[in-house]
Amino acid sequence: MIIDGKVISQSLKDAMKIEVDALAEQYGRRPCLMVIIVGDNPASRSYVRGKIKATEYCGFDGHLVELPEDVSEATLLAEIDKLNNDPLVDGILVQLPLPKHISEDKVIAAISAEKDVDGFHPENVARLWLNQHCILPCTPKGIIELLDQAGVEMAGKKAVVIGRSNIVGKPVAKLLLDRNATVTIAHSRTKDLAAVCREADILVAAVGRAKMVTAEYVKPGAAVIDVGINRTEDGKLVGDVDYEAVLPVAGAITPVPGGVGPMTITMLMRNTIECFLNRMNNK
Ligand code: NAD
Repeated sequence: MIIDGKVISQSLKDAMKIEVDALAEQYGRRPCLMVIIVGDNPASRSYVRGKIKATEYCGFDGHLVELPEDVSEATLLAEIDKLNNDPLVDGILVQLPLPKHISEDKVIAAISAEKDVDGFHPENVARLWLNQHCILPCTPKGIIELLDQAGVEMAGKKAVVIGRSNIVGKPVAKLLLDRNATVTIAHSRTKDLAAVCREADILVAAVGRAKMVTAEYVKPGAAVIDVGINRTEDGKLVGDVDYEAVLPVAGAITPVPGGVGPMTITMLMRNTIECFLNRMNNK
């Protein structure tokens, strides 16, 4: 079974569009997401275009704040502070990566935790690991949603996550654990990675190496979630999984493009609504 992230994403966005109209009626305003981009990195520009498009599709307020590549850290922090204090702003996202002269850690920590739609603020990360109410990071949240929508049972299953980054590997592992899977986190120092992965009922690859997960990594019938985004020499977008080779072995698989990617943006929309509701109901 191919888990079509595009189709699942579209139906979730359609439902949110209706929900947002109802929220506007109920609360007298729409959820508002502000996206900040620094500089002209083409990949960042393209990601941000997708986020703004989804924002408009779902009927949110908000817009893009564009700052030049050489903007000072102080100016960026002041812009964030302004948005933190704006009662009509529910979500703030600063597109990463940032130019080298700006500390990403400082910027992430500067965004008010209640408006941190990316779920990267240390307070949200800590709350995730403490099982407290928090804003979940979008890609891990999207992966769990994909598994749910595909009807993949997680409880009691063995899950292997390849990759231990703070934004994907570790939070995905935590969310799978919360769904009562038995989770192994594999990484670049894992010995006999293929054998470790072959144990998995659910295999999540979040590495950033084209086609590293071959058929010998996959237990027949396993659900394979490909988070990787890589460009081949001829410019084609591919994941971490050798899709053609793994497709006949896997029970379910996400394609790249069209799998986890669209879900990440859709979960950003979901988080914006959640931030809006948290703020409106805390008043
Ligand atoms: P990262 O570079 O921070 O982490 C990569 C991880 O892979 C590390 O923990 C490392 O230990 C592990 N690793 C590296 N080489 C390995 C090897 N040979 N064997 C086993 N493990 C190895 O990357 P990240 O930010 O976690 O992103 C991972 C991939 O997911 C990238 O391709 C990124 O572009 C993609 N990504 C996609 C989305 C999406 O929405 N689809 C979102 C975020 C990241």
